[in-house]
This record gives sequence, C-alpha cells and structure tokens, in this order.
Amino acid sequence: MVHGGAGALDNVKDDKIAFRYLESIRRILEHGRDVMELGGSALQAVEACASLLEDDPAFNAGCGSVLNENGKVEMDAAIMDGRDLSAGAIAAVDNIANPVQLARLVMTESEHVMLISEGAMRFADHCGMERVPEDYFYTADRVEQLRKARLKHKVMLDHDDTEEDSEDQKYGTIGAIARDPKGNLAAATSTGGIVNKRMGRVGDSPIVGAGVYADNETCAVSATGFGEDFMRTVISKTISDFMLMKDLDAKQATAAGIEYLVRKVKGRGGVIVIDRDGKCSSGFTTKKMIHGWIEKGGETTCRF
Ligand code: ASP
Repeated sequence: MVHGGAGALDNVKDDKIAFRYLESIRRILEHGRDVMELGGSALQAVEACASLLEDDPAFNAGCGSVLNENGKVEMDAAIMDGRDLSAGAIAAVDNIANPVQLARLVMTESEHVMLISEGAMRFADHCGMERVPEDYFYTADRVEQLRKARLKHKVMLDHDDTEEDSEDQKYGTIGAIARDPKGNLAAATSTGGIVNKRMGRVGDSPIVGAGVYADNETCAVSATGFGEDFMRTVISKTISDFMLMKDLDAKQATAAGIEYLVRKVKGRGGVIVIDRDGKCSSGFTTKKMIHGWIEKGGETTCRF
C-alpha cells in the first residue's frame, strides 16, 4: 500500500490532476509488487516505492518538499523492519534527493535509530550519499504555496476559525507499507513537513510509533496529516497495540485508531495499514487521502 498525503485536496476536482496522482500511485504500486515478485523483501519494496514517491514533485517529499518559514526545505523520513523492529530515521535534512534511503542507512550502517540536521548530513557524506543542489527542490508551486501560507498565517492570527484554515491545507507526505510472501512487514514514511513550519520543527513522519511502525506480530502503518496530532497519540503504535491486545484485524484496528485520534485530539489526517495476514485497510479524518494498494496477481486500486 502507498499513500500520497491527506487533506482537503480540493485541486483533485480537476480530472487532469486526479489522473496525474492516480497514475503515479498505480505505477509505483506495480513497481513495489515487481520488487517482491523478483524475490525482494517487504523492506526493499517500501524503500523502492518511497524513493519513487520522493522523486515525483507532485508529492510533499524529496524533490516536491514544501518550504518552511524561511523558504527552505527540511525533510524528515523513517523506515522500519517488522522482522526485528529495527528502524532508521532522519530529521530536518536538506540537499538529499531520497531521505528514505538515508534513513535506511541509519538503520543498517549506524548503531542509532535517528540522526538529525547537520549530524544526519555528515552521516550522509560518510556513507558517500550524493548531495543535490538547492534548486532541485524549488518548484514554482511550492514558492507560491508558501506565499499563500504566510498570508494566511497573518489572517489566522486574527481569526477564530482555525479549523477551516487548516483543512484547506494539503498534507502531502508519502508512505509505503508492505507484506512480502514470507509474511514480513515493513513501513516507510517521508515528508517535507508542513508549509511555513518553524525552522527545526520535526513532525511525526520520522518518529517510530507516530508516523511509522512495523511489527510482524501485528501490522505495518504509515500516517499522513497534522504531525503533532499523531505524535501526541502515537497513532501507529496505538493501532498496532489494538491488534496485539484486542486481537483486532486491520480494518477493526484502523477504525479503533481513528476513533482514538478524533476523540483525544481531534486529529487531522489518515493512516494506511496492512495486518500480519495481509489484510489492507485505511482510515482518515480529512476530506480525502490519496492512497492505493496492490496484491499478488490482483488489480491495483487507487483512491482519494
Ligand atoms: N505528517 C507530516 C508532518 O506533520 C505532514 C504530512 O503528512 O503531510 O510533518
């Protein structure tokens, strides 16, 4: 399963834009299935899918990352292996084309789970990862989006109805989760964060248990939406715990997780979930969430 963000997504009323998103999701899902059909693991499949999503400027990750309050890109990403709960994460990095691949290197080539900012960049250099120039990230759309967000921020300060303003935003993070034929689960999430965020702000995406989680005993989860809501509810681990402790399947645990998210913090966003039996599920509280799934020998399904 993959997702490409949650939010109002009002622009997808335009058929051309909707088609563009769905085609990208379909192509990437098929690639993920190919990886596993050729013997690749769930971990390799999620890394491959997340990398392709990062390479597509339509999504808020990698080259399409949104800009922070200073007009700069600061990306977060994580990857987790359900076989042994090993995980790697990076936060507040720039000049890296595929942050998910750096997260994977943190997992496999360091003794740590998370590296941030300058330290993460030094580690990238140490691993021989190429740095890409700043203009790799700046699209006209992102600059315009930041201009609007800055204006709205001004309005929002004087405005009571913050709900309406925030729903207007598209939280376009990407995520990929998979179960391979051996029953191994894996998850990856990658993002540019939220438009006009404060410099140094880290969201849920690189936080194990919040924006990403995988455990062969329960499920794989990737979240997208207002990161602070997911960090406060540790939503991905909460969904996993519902499975472990209440013996729920993907659909039931997703519904229980979304109910918890809404009841506790009025959370805005959504999740994709695959359980240990390979059942797929999704849930979201925003108007839409771009997502899709593919099964061995089955058709691709893509939805908003
Ligand atoms: N969850 C991400 C964050 O808060 C944003 C998103 O999902 O688009 O950084």
